[in-house]
Amino acid sequence: MAALPGAALSSVAPERLARMPRRVYPLRILGMGLGGLPLAVVLHEIDAPAACWAWLVFTALLWPHLALWLALRSRHPHRTEVRNLLFDSALAGLWVPLMHFNLLPSVLLLTLATVDKISTGIPRLWLQSLPVVLAGMALGCVIAGPALQPVTSMAVILACLPMLLIHTIAVSLAANRMIGRIREQNRELDRLHRVDALTGLAGRRHWQQQADATLRRLREQGAPAALLMLDIDRFKDINDQYGHASGDDVLRLVAGVLRRRLGEHDSAGRFGGDEFAVVLAGVDRDTARGLAEGMRRDLEAAAATLRLPGLSCSISVGVAQADPRHASVREWLEAADAALYAAKHAGRNRVVVADAAGIQ
Ligand code: GH3
Ligand code: MG
Repeated sequence: MAALPGAALSSVAPERLARMPRRVYPLRILGMGLGGLPLAVVLHEIDAPAACWAWLVFTALLWPHLALWLALRSRHPHRTEVRNLLFDSALAGLWVPLMHFNLLPSVLLLTLATVDKISTGIPRLWLQSLPVVLAGMALGCVIAGPALQPVTSMAVILACLPMLLIHTIAVSLAANRMIGRIREQNRELDRLHRVDALTGLAGRRHWQQQADATLRRLREQGAPAALLMLDIDRFKDINDQYGHASGDDVLRLVAGVLRRRLGEHDSAGRFGGDEFAVVLAGVDRDTARGLAEGMRRDLEAAAATLRLPGLSCSISVGVAQADPRHASVREWLEAADAALYAAKHAGRNRVVVADAAGIQ
């Protein structure tokens, strides 16, 4: 009995799908090998013919390796592996009549065959496996004839225990490993959501959440705060003249300049493109203007470190103080954005401060 715990097939990355047969392989060796024990004891008890013993050798010892070989040589290993998983179910069904319906191992085989399909995470695979199990059972009935010996002896019960214990624990451990990996991937996804990969600053949504929290906290404390909207001047020209990679260097440079000027409770984010936003906590309008001027000058000086001949790199900054009339960060942003717009229109490379009455 094999198992592949994990996400739905359609939502699994192609590399992961390609690795599926190799992940199933050890579990199939274990499940089929341990399942062979009670089968052997039952075959011994019912004095089964040699063909049944040969089939047992195939099931318990050969099939896991053949399944891997088939999957690896296939152009679509995961599809072949799904077929292999269904063949596992057919085998389980077939063995029930071959064991003359010996109750415990029959129930165990059928249960584990179904659980294995469920634990793959492939939608409805376990449902698809049910008719396959029934077909296997029907074929087994034709081969074995109408033999019914459901009573399970103590020897068979004991032979079932390793499969029951070891295989179940192995499948649970594999599922647990998968859950750990998914948790890790979720953390990474969360990080990617929060952080802008190019600059390492907060991404837009995450920054907005931070700004929301800061605005609320400062309101409760009655402390001031300022918001800066910054945009690189003529950034398209920089991209055109020096190439996209150098444009990326400029974006990183701006992020570095902002970071160096940030206080412990401030937050900076990349808004997308060449636009950045900064919340300065506990800072009044004049201090914010001074900090923005500092950032603007820092960038002019830092641009030389990029060693791009003739590069002139500047930012325009709009500054808006938090105002009780701002119902949310959105209105605060609009005020800073209007100031930024004014800075661009006034000739760029400058800081413009908005006040509650408009642009100053
Ligand atoms: P302005 O002074 O009016 O802001 O002019 P501008 O050329 O900077 O105009 P705008 O802000 O609209 O240009 C943004 C450009 O930023 C357009 C786009 O090609 C470029 N851009 C957006 N994202 C990236 C990025 O991740 N890397 C690079 N290198 N360029 C980017
Ligand atoms: Mg720009």
